[in-house]
Amino acid sequence: MNAIGVDVGGTKIAAGVVTPEGEVLKKVRRPTAHSPEHLLEGIVGAIEEVRDGFEVEGVCLGVPGTVLSAENKVIFSPNLHSIEDIPLKDELGKRTGLHVTVENDANAAAWGEFKFGAGSEVGHLIFITLGTGVGGGVITNGVLLRGAQGAGGELGHVTIQATGPRCNCGNHGCLEALASGTAIQRRAREVASEQPGSALGKLAADRKVLGEDVSELAWQGDEAAVSILEETGRWLGVGLAGFVNVFNPEIIAVGGGVAEAGDLILASVRREIYLRSRSPGRDLVQIREATLGAASGVLGAAALARGPSGEYVFG
Ligand SMILES: [Zn+2]
Repeated sequence: MNAIGVDVGGTKIAAGVVTPEGEVLKKVRRPTAHSPEHLLEGIVGAIEEVRDGFEVEGVCLGVPGTVLSAENKVIFSPNLHSIEDIPLKDELGKRTGLHVTVENDANAAAWGEFKFGAGSEVGHLIFITLGTGVGGGVITNGVLLRGAQGAGGELGHVTIQATGPRCNCGNHGCLEALASGTAIQRRAREVASEQPGSALGKLAADRKVLGEDVSELAWQGDEAAVSILEETGRWLGVGLAGFVNVFNPEIIAVGGGVAEAGDLILASVRREIYLRSRSPGRDLVQIREATLGAASGVLGAAALARGPSGEYVFG
């Protein structure tokens, strides 16, 4: 039967009715409200609007932040504080009459890529999403890694440089602090101030330099922009090389806005992984762009809502 996947983001809520084969029958979007009651109303509204006319067996919410799976709630969400500590399963279950579960958004997106996207042919997948932050998920032997409390798979907050830049989580030198869109933006601003005559420097004289500017200039062949993306790819490769040794994945799928830089980043990722991880894992693993784009969150959440399937055990 169909299920509803909801992707709760810092700026918008996306919900979709999805078939077991991954076909989206209907989808809706609405802005995210930033007070707990309005946020709940928005989520309920999206669920009610999208389910109208369809039979569904359950709903799963992909949410940003640290999830406690036993309680189906979020305990820490730096970009969406209003969702913290709401008993989502009970509140939403009461208001919609549906079976509700909650999953970290990157874990849900990883599950989407595993079921319907870049990892649909394999049993061992790592998904990493590079946006403002870095999120990820691990599927090993067909099972989503969630850890003892549901807080596992936080690939973006592995320390890769002990004295590195401060991360949003409070630690220093996390993968997120060195390989996110925010890190690219930081490097671009450094280049702009050190080399005012460079393309980035000229841009910075007119307006704020963004991560997208770096990709665009790099595609045009600007050397400083290319080297920023290469450096970002090297750091990402440092992190992923560790994951290759630990999880021995067949595929690492890279998604998120930064991944649109494609081989400008992925070439140095591949090089770094080859240099730093061990055989035979490094020879097996393929680094690919994720294929579902922003839809992975809704698709993965819907697949997780569908009920115990032998691949996933509900908390
Ligand atoms: Zn961190």
